[in-house]
Amino acid sequence: ATWTQGAGWHDAAVVPYGPLQLDPAAAVLHYAQEIFEGLKAYRHADGSVWTFRPEANAARLARSARRLALPEISEEMFLEAITQLVRADEAWVPSGGESSLYLRPFVIATEAFLGVRAAHEVKFLVIASPAGAYFPGGVKPVSIWLSQHYTRAAVGGTGAAKCGGNYAASLLAQNEASENGCDQVCFLDAAENRFVEELGGMNLYFVHDDGSIVTPELTGTILEGITRDSIVELARDLGHEVSERRISIDEWREGVASGRITEVFACGTAAAVTPVGKLVSPEGELVHGGGVAGEVTMKIRNTLLDLQYGRTQDTHGWLHRIV
Ligand code: PMP
Repeated sequence: ATWTQGAGWHDAAVVPYGPLQLDPAAAVLHYAQEIFEGLKAYRHADGSVWTFRPEANAARLARSARRLALPEISEEMFLEAITQLVRADEAWVPSGGESSLYLRPFVIATEAFLGVRAAHEVKFLVIASPAGAYFPGGVKPVSIWLSQHYTRAAVGGTGAAKCGGNYAASLLAQNEASENGCDQVCFLDAAENRFVEELGGMNLYFVHDDGSIVTPELTGTILEGITRDSIVELARDLGHEVSERRISIDEWREGVASGRITEVFACGTAAAVTPVGKLVSPEGELVHGGGVAGEVTMKIRNTLLDLQYGRTQDTHGWLHRIV
């Protein structure tokens, strides 16, 4: 669909996949006025197709839109777009294993002009792609590089928005992680370079020896992960005490060294839940739980996936039927 100032949203349509035509002066190409979402459509054993908390993705897209001075997309329009797209290409929703159809809604400023102001013409698009299981060979703990020189988001910046610019700024740190043999980068807060924020594309959780679980609180510089939010509830259902608070890198190191922190895991739409095997920095390696997937991590992972794939009852009303 296209939005033009004064006219609002118009011309919504499902069209065959293909290149986009953009003016070389389109604002998105110069000033990065862009936001996006990521969610999945899951096929259940009876053939039906469902999304997981799409209302939460719609709400986050609306918050991102506000921050990037883009026009808002209503929940109704968001749900209509993903529903029509999935229904048009229903055969692309894989079945079996932990495969899914990944959906990528995004909003770009298409008005052609050179100058720094909010664009008067914008497009909302959704593309889809089948996604295989994140761990086809069984769950494998990931390794994390602690970013020393780069932060992801500053107070008052766009950290809580899901905008492309945040990811562009994280690529150099992700390259550094890869060069150091790690799967993912972990960012600390920009103000004090001390508090754990999140990974390049996942939120973090710390499991303690008394069963309590801690995740960094939302400070406006962390992406408000929908998986993160769901796990707060699911872990409480499973009897864990869950708190959201700041956690420093020293608390992480000392917690693992003393055995008080027994497991660390990361979560996001792509991987659902993944164990963190070790934290690597120039000071050395900190291995968690012998580098193998922890019991609490796997219990939470299975609880979430059982819910998304319709293998357990949806007591929270989080599933939204598409087909
Ligand atoms: N943090 C970042 C930076 C991300 O890109 C993502 C993926 N969207 C997440 C956290 C996890 O969010 P969600 O659970 O909504 O996928």
